[in-house]
Amino acid sequence: MTDHELQIVTILEQAKTIAVVGASDDWKRPSFYVMKYLQKQGYRIAPINPRLAGQEILGEPVFASLSDIPFAVDIVDVFRRPDDCPEIARDAIAIGAKCLWLQIGVVSHAAEKIAQDAGLSVIMNKCPKIEHSRLSGLLGNGGFASGLLSARRQKVSLPPVPARNGGFVTSHNLETLAVHAGTRPDGATGARITPLYQTAAFTFDDADHAASLYDLQEPGNVYGRLSNPTTAALEQKIASLDGAIGACCVASGHAAQLIALYPLMAPGRKIIASKHLYGGSITQFTQSFKSFGWDAELVDIHDLGAVERAVEDQQVTALFAESLSNPDGIVSDIEALAHIAHNAGIPLIIDNTMATPVMCKPGDFGADIIVYSTTKFLSGHGNALGGAVVDMGQFDWAKARTSSALTEPNPAYHGIRFAETFGTLSYITFCHASVLRDLGPTMAPMNAFLTLTGMETLPLRMRQHNENAKKVAEFLRAHPKIASVSWSGFHDSPCFELSQKYLTLGAGSVFTFTLKGGYEAGQRLVENCNLLSHLANVGDTRSLIIHPASTTHRQLDDQQKQQAGINNGMIRVSIGIENSDDIIADLAGSLDSLSADAP
Ligand code: PLP
Repeated sequence: MTDHELQIVTILEQAKTIAVVGASDDWKRPSFYVMKYLQKQGYRIAPINPRLAGQEILGEPVFASLSDIPFAVDIVDVFRRPDDCPEIARDAIAIGAKCLWLQIGVVSHAAEKIAQDAGLSVIMNKCPKIEHSRLSGLLGNGGFASGLLSARRQKVSLPPVPARNGGFVTSHNLETLAVHAGTRPDGATGARITPLYQTAAFTFDDADHAASLYDLQEPGNVYGRLSNPTTAALEQKIASLDGAIGACCVASGHAAQLIALYPLMAPGRKIIASKHLYGGSITQFTQSFKSFGWDAELVDIHDLGAVERAVEDQQVTALFAESLSNPDGIVSDIEALAHIAHNAGIPLIIDNTMATPVMCKPGDFGADIIVYSTTKFLSGHGNALGGAVVDMGQFDWAKARTSSALTEPNPAYHGIRFAETFGTLSYITFCHASVLRDLGPTMAPMNAFLTLTGMETLPLRMRQHNENAKKVAEFLRAHPKIASVSWSGFHDSPCFELSQKYLTLGAGSVFTFTLKGGYEAGQRLVENCNLLSHLANVGDTRSLIIHPASTTHRQLDDQQKQQAGINNGMIRVSIGIENSDDIIADLAGSLDSLSADAP
C-alpha cells in the first residue's frame, strides 16, 4: 500500500458526511452510483445540484450550493468540469470541509492549491466509491486487492472492535503476502482459514439490496458464476503478489486467456503473440479463436523490429507473450514489449505462469494484464485446475487505439460505460460482471480453496524448485548421452541476460533436454523413471517428465515438430521440490538403463 493509499484510507475512515457536487438523480449516472454506495457504507450524503434543489435523492434533500448545507461536511466530492473547481474549492473551505475530492477525469491544480493552502487534503482523478470498495478489505465480488493484511476477524457489524492501526498491517514482502493477503479470519465464525463457500447462490437482504447488486452499485455476491467469497480471497492474494489492483479467477489457464482477451476483442480484431508460447495456447490463439473472428499472428518476440511492425496493423488489440516460456525457457523483454505496445495504444498481456510473481512481477516492467494457469506453481500440488486474469489498473482504456466493450455503452447494464463508471477497476469488474457471467468458465470454489492453501508456500517452493533445477540442469548437461539442455540459467544460454534482468531465484524449473538416442531413447527414458512422474503437467511439488514427440506433439509430422521447436529426442522436465540427489539419482538410473536397452 502506498502513502497516497494510506492517506485515502485515513480520509475515508475519518469522514462521516460527503457532499456530492454535480449529483444526478438519474440512477444510471456515475454520481448516483457513488452516492448510493457511500450511503450504504454508512456515510451521510449531501447531494448538490441547483436544478434539483428542494427535491430528494436517495432520501436526502438536494441543496443548491455547499453553503446551503445545514450540517458539517467532511468531504466535498466533485463531479464538475475542472474550470468550476477553484470556486468549489473556495466554497469547500468556507463550510469547513476537510477534504476536496475531484472525481475521475477531474484534475484542477488551481483548485488543489487553493484547498491545500487552506489546510484541506486533496484527492484528484479518483472515485471514493472505487477507492472505498478497493481499500476497505471487504470480501466483495471484485477480487480487488486492498493491500491490507490482518489476523483479525473481518468486520460484519458496526461498531468495529477497537484495534491498533485499525487491526491492519501492510507489507510488500512476498512471503508475508503469500500467507496473509486476501485471507482474514472469517467475520461470522472466526475461522482462521478462509472457509470453502460451497454455494451456488447468495441471499439478498431485501429488494433494494438485490437491485443494487444487479446494478453493480455495491460489491457483493449474487450467483456463483460471477463471484464467490473463497475465490475473491484467492483473487486478492494473487493481485497482491503482483502489486495489481485486482484479479479474476477462472476455471483454467486457457479460460484466463479467453477472459483476458474477450473485453478487448471483436470480429476482425487481431492479437500479436510470441511464437514461444505453450503449445496449447498457440492452438487456442491460431485455431479456436478464429471461430470468433479473432485473428492471431505469431512473431519472434526477440525481434523487436518485427514486433513493432506487426502491431502497426490498426486491428491489433493486444500484444501477448510469456515471461518465461513453457517449455523452452525463452525469456521475454517485457519492458521493451510494453514500450512497443503502449506506443501503439494497446495493452501488453503477459502469461506469467512459469515464473510466478515470486520470480517475476511483469507489472513492474510495464505489463498491463497478467494471466496465469494457477494449475501449475500457484496451486503447486497438482490438485486443482484454475486460471487468473490480473489487472495492474494502469492501462487507460478510454485512450486505447481501438474502442472496446469497456468504453461502449453496455446494454446489459442499462447503457453504463464501464470505463466511466468504474474507472481503474473497469476491466476487472467487467471480467466478472460481464465476461464470466456470459461465457461462464468460473473457478470452482473448491479449487480456489485448494489454491489458497497452495499459495501460502509459493515463495518457499519456488526457491526449492529453482535450486533443484539448477543442479539437475548441470547434471544433465554433463551427461554423455545428452546432446543439449535448454535452460536459461547457463551463462551461454541465448536468454541468460534477459533471465538476469527479469527473473529472480534462477531460470525456472521447467525446461527441455535432448537425448542423442532420439525418439526411442526418449520413450524409454520416461518409462524407466521411478521418482519422476510420467504425465502432462508442470509446476507440481513432484518432479514430472514427458516425451513430447510421443505424447503432446505426437500428431505432428517431423516438419511440424521442428516448427514447434520439438525434436524426437526431446524430453520436458518439471523439477519438483524433492531432495535434488534423489531426482538426479532417478534420472541417472534411467539414463544408465537406456544404454543397456539401446538397440
Ligand atoms: N499457459 C501456460 C504457460 C501453460 O503452461 C499452460 C498449461 O500448461 C496454460 C497456459 C494453460 O493452462 P491450463 O492447463 O490450466 O488451462
